[in-house]
Formats: sequence, C-alpha cells, structure tokens
Amino acid sequence: MSFASFYQQSIDDPDTFWANEARRIDWHAPFTKTLDYTRPPFARWFIGGETNLCHNAVDRHLAQRADQAALIAVSTETNTEKTYTFRELHREVSAMAAIMLSLGVKRGDRVLIYMPMIAEAVFAMLACARIGAVHSVVFGGFASNSLATRIDDAQPTLIVSADAGSRGGRVVAYKGLLDEAIRLAQHKPAHVLLTDRGLAEMPRTAGRDVDYTGLRAQYLDTEVPVTWLESNEPSYILYTSGTTGKPKGVQRDVGGYAVALAASMPYVFCGNPGETYFCTSDIGWVVGHSYIVYGPLMAGMATILYEGLPVLAGDKPDGGIWWSLVEKYKVTRMFSSPTAIRVLKKQPAECMTRHDLSSLKSLYLAGEPLDETTSKWISEALGVPVIDNYWQTESGWPILSVAKGVDDKPTRLGSPGVPLYGYKMHIMNESTGALCGANEKGVVVIEGPLPPGCMQTVYRDDERFVNTYWSNFKTQVYSTFDWGIRDEDGYYFILGRTDDVINVAGHRLGTREIEESISSHANVSEVAVVGVEDKLKGQVAIAFVIPKRADAVATAEARQALEAEIMRVVDKQIGAVGRPSRVHFISLLPKTRSGKLLRRSIQAICEGRDPGDLTTIEDPNSLEQIKAALQT
Ligand code: AMP
Repeated sequence: MSFASFYQQSIDDPDTFWANEARRIDWHAPFTKTLDYTRPPFARWFIGGETNLCHNAVDRHLAQRADQAALIAVSTETNTEKTYTFRELHREVSAMAAIMLSLGVKRGDRVLIYMPMIAEAVFAMLACARIGAVHSVVFGGFASNSLATRIDDAQPTLIVSADAGSRGGRVVAYKGLLDEAIRLAQHKPAHVLLTDRGLAEMPRTAGRDVDYTGLRAQYLDTEVPVTWLESNEPSYILYTSGTTGKPKGVQRDVGGYAVALAASMPYVFCGNPGETYFCTSDIGWVVGHSYIVYGPLMAGMATILYEGLPVLAGDKPDGGIWWSLVEKYKVTRMFSSPTAIRVLKKQPAECMTRHDLSSLKSLYLAGEPLDETTSKWISEALGVPVIDNYWQTESGWPILSVAKGVDDKPTRLGSPGVPLYGYKMHIMNESTGALCGANEKGVVVIEGPLPPGCMQTVYRDDERFVNTYWSNFKTQVYSTFDWGIRDEDGYYFILGRTDDVINVAGHRLGTREIEESISSHANVSEVAVVGVEDKLKGQVAIAFVIPKRADAVATAEARQALEAEIMRVVDKQIGAVGRPSRVHFISLLPKTRSGKLLRRSIQAICEGRDPGDLTTIEDPNSLEQIKAALQT
C-alpha cells in the first residue's frame, strides 16, 4: 500500500486504523471502544482495555526469546559491559518491582528516577510499569533546584537514585544533589533507593535511604505478577520546558503509548525481533523513554544502553566507540542526534572505516534541525539512508518522517518528512489562524484528536494542558510551538520555535528557567537569555545581565569573575546543561514601551541578522549595547 493511502485511512477512520494496530500488543482484557473524544481536546484511547507496558516489553517475549539479548548496558565510564537476556531482564525487573512493593509503592504512586545511564535505571522504569506506579525520570544532568521543582510537582513516594554518574571521567555525585533537592522541596519522599556504584561517597539518611544491593539479593526470585491497567491510567510523567519557568509534567497513558510505539517500530524504525537497536539518547529524555527502553523491547529487539561520551578522551582515546558497538552487537537501526553526528564528523575517517558496519541499515536523527551538510556527510560515510524525524516530548513518537516500513517514499534534504499516520496537520497563520498555503510560513499545528501515544494532559493540571497547547487559535488545535512551511509535495520544514524554548544539542531548555536561576545571583538586577545559532550544538544560550552594582563589572577581570560566578549558579541550580555559553554585561535591555523583552531582536543581533520591527522599542540605545557587548 502507498503511504498516501495508508495515511488517509488513519485520518478518515482512526477507529478502525488504530483498532487494527492495537493487535500488535497483548491485552489482558479487550477494549470496548477504540476512541472516546467526547471531551475534546482530551483523547482517550482503547477504553476499558487492560494491558501493561512491562508485560509487553518483557514477559511477552519469554515464550519465544527468553535467552535472546534484551538489554546491553555499556559504560565507557566504568569500563563495564553486560548483556541481560529477556529472562534475566524479567528476573531483575521482578526483583526491583518486589523491592518497590516492599517500600510501600502502590498503583498510581509516583516514583522519581534520578539515575545515570545504568541498567538499574531501566529495571526501575520497567518495575514501575509492572506494578502500575507512575515513573518520572529526571535527567541526571539536572541539579538540585530543577530536581526539587519536579519532586514537588510529582510528589513521589519513592526516589530511585545512585551514588553518582560519570561524564568523560568526571564523577558527578548524584546523592549530594539529591539530598539538597529533597531539602529544598516541600514534599518529602518516604524512601530513597540507592545503587552504590562505588564512584562517590554516599551518606545515608537513616529510616529513609535504603540500599539496592541488599534488597536485590533478598528479592531476586520473587515473582511479582503484572498489574493490569486500564489503557488510560497514567504510565509516566516526563517534565519538559515551556514558556514559563515552571516545567510541565507531560503525562502519558498505558495502552495508547504501547500501541503507538509498537506500530512505530515496523513502520518508522523498521526494526525486527532479534535485531539490535542502538539509541544514543538518555533515559532522561523522551527519545530515551520511547526508543532506548519501551519501543525496541516491545518489538523483541535488543537495546543498547550507553553511558559515556561519543568521543573517548584520556588514556584510550576513541572517536569510534559508537561504531565499535554497531559492529560488535550487529546493530541494524541506530538513532542519534545531529549534534552528536557533528561531533563525530570531526573525528579522523578511520574511526568509522576501521569498523565493519555492514549490519546497519539506517540511521535515524531527531531532536533538532538536521542541516544538509551533516545529513549528506553521514549518509555517504555510512552508505545507509539517514532518516530525519521530528517530534516532541508531548507526542512520544515521531510526528513527521518518512515511514520506510510502509513504502519507499524518498526523503528530502532539510525536511524531516511528511505527517505520519494519525497526525492531521496544518500550518496556520500565527495571527489570523488561516491555513497557510504551500511554502507559506506559519505555526505547525495538529488537529485533535491526537493519535495514541501523545500526552494525555499536564500532570494534575488539565487547565494548563488546554491553555498552553490548545488555546492559541480561534479553532481548537494543538500548537507544536514550531514555525514551519510545507512544500507543494507535502514535505514539512521546521524553522525554529515560536516560544522561548531553545534547543541546545537536542536538549530542550526554557530560557525563562535559566533567567530565573541567573536572577537568584545577588548582583543580578535583570537578565535576558536567548538561544543563538551554533555550528556544533545547533543553538547555545547567551545571557545579557544588568548587574545591580556597576562597579562589579568595571574591569575585564571583574566581568570575567562575575561571568564565572553566574555560570556556577546555573550549574548548581539547573545543571551544566543549562549553563549559558557567555554572560554579557549591559546597563539596558531592549524592551517594548510596555516593558516586554524584545528577545527576538536580541537573538537577531546575536546572529548578525536584522532586529526586525522596532517601532515599539523603548530605547534604541539598548540594541547598541547588545552589539557592543558582543564585541567583548
Ligand atoms: P523535545 O520535546 O525535547 O523532544 O523537543 C522538541 C522540539 O525539538 C520540537 O518542538 C522542535 O523544536 C525540535 N525538534 C525535534 N525534532 C526535530 C527535527 N527533526 N527537526 C527540527 N526540529 C526538531
């Protein structure tokens, strides 16, 4: 069937289309209705159906592939490598589930997972899914304040963590950051379950902190039956940045997510049972949830969990570590980000050519715009198709791509592709809400109901879900907050965010969060953070600060010292991931007469572009200050 007619079926008759796809997973009880859209924009999929993500990712494979590799945990930080078969994974997940139950975790309770990229993190996610607890994985690169906000929002019964993570040989002691976060948070978890990797000191709080190793030994052969969940019960919360300083808890269901991922594996990722999938993302991001953990495992594939940098420094430098894993584990499908590929491009060619990469059939890239140079280079170097795919934390699986598992629709350079099955998409004029024609720029929107797998709501805040995503136009449509155009043939091109979200190396960050953190420095009066184009990382954050005391920036040394201090504040509160690449000092910020910050103009100047319409600017001198500051 051509993709066009496949797609059309999904739009004309979503009930039949998705009821068919739902056969890809196991149901304990069948659903009685495919879709309930009586309360738009809240879409409920597979009503009454009972299923379980852990069952579909693990237990289901025991009959046919118990001794096949399931999870391959590789760490170039600790030089460890361990493969778990589906049988072993089942055993570990059951033990973890039993531990959670022993610590009082009940169905619907939240479990916050603040972990490095180690197997125990995956056990914890799957164990939550098994017992019906709602996991909330917080990226290990986030520091105490960011973590505290998430603890307060999710109110976890249990936090699962470890002594430390490690990045490029630098140990990041998680436990200290976690203790500080719990101190800052209003909500206090009953227990903290800790994996001791022997990397850092780990003080324990008596009565609250428990050690995983001892409990694992105790519960290793405990059978924990799967808790069957109604399709619309929550499976997880994943926080993501938006326009405000407060991150949104993207909440996902069970059945819809399972079906969406199960369908995406053959249609988009062309993965077959028994093969190996390698996604280089992190479990702290949505890509990691969907395509390190649940998607490949549900498809009966082995999945690689990699802790470490893409380019190894130190005594054993290696720019080909990922390619060596492709060779060793005969990876067929690999998923990465444009930034990572740009990093690898700087390595000597033989880092790649010395490996036998003949198992690899395609490379998927997502998370940020894929530039033509990077796309062409990697595609030629590997000799396989490179498939760009566009999606968001909110969608949980690709929105735009080419579904090579459906037909051989060609990719188009610069475009992530066409709307995938289930997504009814438009480009809308930002002010009139009129539908844009071919090659006309507007906001990329999706008409409800959103297909299975997409967010159900903002955790504990239905109103915020409706107000944030569905109330930007006269007609009720979901806004992606991305600018885009569609060409005559229906290929979409993504032109950047419409809101104050920036994308650094594929990581989504809210400029407001960074600003709030910088503002907490005693000598900061006002601050603006903008995302500026960067050849390697796509974008970097640049901060413009008005200090409270001008004498604090009187000399170059003083400016440098304050810049370093401000960076440290961000490191401590948000984590290095949010650290601006530069902090400039000025005495006036460009604002409108009504006091609104002219971020786009600041950004344009930083990128050497025209600052745009300045009729409402309060004081044009402010722009001169930005220009002058950039020279320093
Ligand atoms: P996140 O929620 O962190 O996955 O970030 C989602 C945002 O990343 C989208 O709204 C886009 O701005 C950007 N993005 C993701 N994938 C792509 C892509 N393939 N091309 C261009 N931008 C992308």
